[in-house]
Amino acid sequence: MESATNFFRNRYSLTGLESTLNEEEKAFQDMMHRFAEEVVRPAGAALDKLTPEQVIAPNSVLWEVYARFAELGVMEILASDEVDPVTEARLMQIMLEELAWGDSGIAVSLGAGLSPLMHAKMFENQFVMEKLLANPGIGCWAISEPDHGSNQIMHGKGYATQKPNCIVKFDGDKLVINGQKAAWVSNGPVANFASLFTACDFGGEELGQCVVVVPMDAKGVSKGKPLDKIGQRALPQGEVYFDNVVIEKEWLLVAPENYGAAFESQLSLANAGMGLMFTGLARAAFEHALDYAHERKQGGFAIIEHQDVQRRLFDMFRKVEMCRALSHRVNEYIAAAPRPSLLAAAASKVSVTDLTFEVATSALQMFGGNGLTKEYPMEKLLRDARAAQIEDGCNHVLSIKGGSLLNKDNPLA
Ligand SMILES: Cc1cc2nc3c(=O)[nH]c(=O)nc-3n(C[C@H](O)[C@H](O)[C@H](O)COP(=O)(O)OP(=O)(O)OC[C@H]3O[C@@H](n4cnc5c(N)ncnc54)[C@H](O)[C@@H]3O)c2cc1C
Repeated sequence: MESATNFFRNRYSLTGLESTLNEEEKAFQDMMHRFAEEVVRPAGAALDKLTPEQVIAPNSVLWEVYARFAELGVMEILASDEVDPVTEARLMQIMLEELAWGDSGIAVSLGAGLSPLMHAKMFENQFVMEKLLANPGIGCWAISEPDHGSNQIMHGKGYATQKPNCIVKFDGDKLVINGQKAAWVSNGPVANFASLFTACDFGGEELGQCVVVVPMDAKGVSKGKPLDKIGQRALPQGEVYFDNVVIEKEWLLVAPENYGAAFESQLSLANAGMGLMFTGLARAAFEHALDYAHERKQGGFAIIEHQDVQRRLFDMFRKVEMCRALSHRVNEYIAAAPRPSLLAAAASKVSVTDLTFEVATSALQMFGGNGLTKEYPMEKLLRDARAAQIEDGCNHVLSIKGGSLLNKDNPLA
């Protein structure tokens, strides 16, 4: 018998109230959905049950996911100059929603994996771009430090004056890196390249901050133990250590005088991406609840017959559509705007991840006792959604930051 989700997909569209995809976008969505359904979702479910060490072991299915994703050619599409920013943004929103519909931990890993390439393009460094395209691997964005988590979000430019844990020293035509980044770096244990946002000693009176891409096979780079955590367990996370790492100055993407703007751009990109991805998780949770409500019989009839069950499903449905509406609006706005808008991106990230957690909680409740068991997908989705409220900035802190951008006397507003 046809599932309720498929019935509504045929009546509306794969993602619900979607009306504006052109032919190319539709083909891209079909390709991404197939990948999410056949590769990402089963891999995410399997990886969730493993230890962090097993997740990154040579025989782990994670490597197959990376290889199959590379075959889709997304890196080449994003690196191409022929794709204009708005088209790129629309492809990104299709891709990230589908990937996270499959598994949000894997979606974050694949998204973060593109960071060095996206940064090389954004900050227009042809040397780094060519190196990355010649030797494609997994990337990471390394910014959080043991003593600077929320502090980075609150005071993106300026934290470096407060005892940074990682410093790049400018030394003629070389860069010398010492210190460490926090255990939270997504892909830290598996990355081939790190996009390092960090403090620098550039010879000025005070420390500054800069962005450098670091090849992770450089002498002196080492990786910490992969982190064991409650949700998004398919996403490998861990410290990155730098012990007198020397690289050429060509790897510098952003000099200290431009760091503030670069930080705002990257955090905007990351927060906008979070909104797109977690719309996918909300949709997955809603679909599971919708199907279960049609299948589960209590006292001889399906629970969907109860008006209150229908009302609860409607509540989830409208929240998923709210997530998509806001995250797409923000993403397309940022792509076309003359300067990145953290105000817009934080609004998307905070709203979507809070709504997604609400949807995941209601969807779990729909399964009754079964929602709590590992035999059903709901408890995993709840754990994955919970992590998102801290990821890329705690929602409380991002809200304070967003509020500060509504003060017209704030120079960043
Ligand atoms: C799944 C996941 C993926 C991540 N991926 C990456 C990544 O790829 N790269 C990377 O560099 N980092 C990454 N992070 C790190 C993430 O950005 C930080 O965890 C986050 O910024 C919070 O920092 P913290 O964990 O050190 O918490 P803290 O900063 O120690 O915060 C602790 C508590 O204090 C509160 N708090 C702190 N400062 C303030 C303030 N000024 N005002 C009010 N309340 C405050 C916070 O809200 C929180 O409740 C990831 C985190 C997670 C969970």
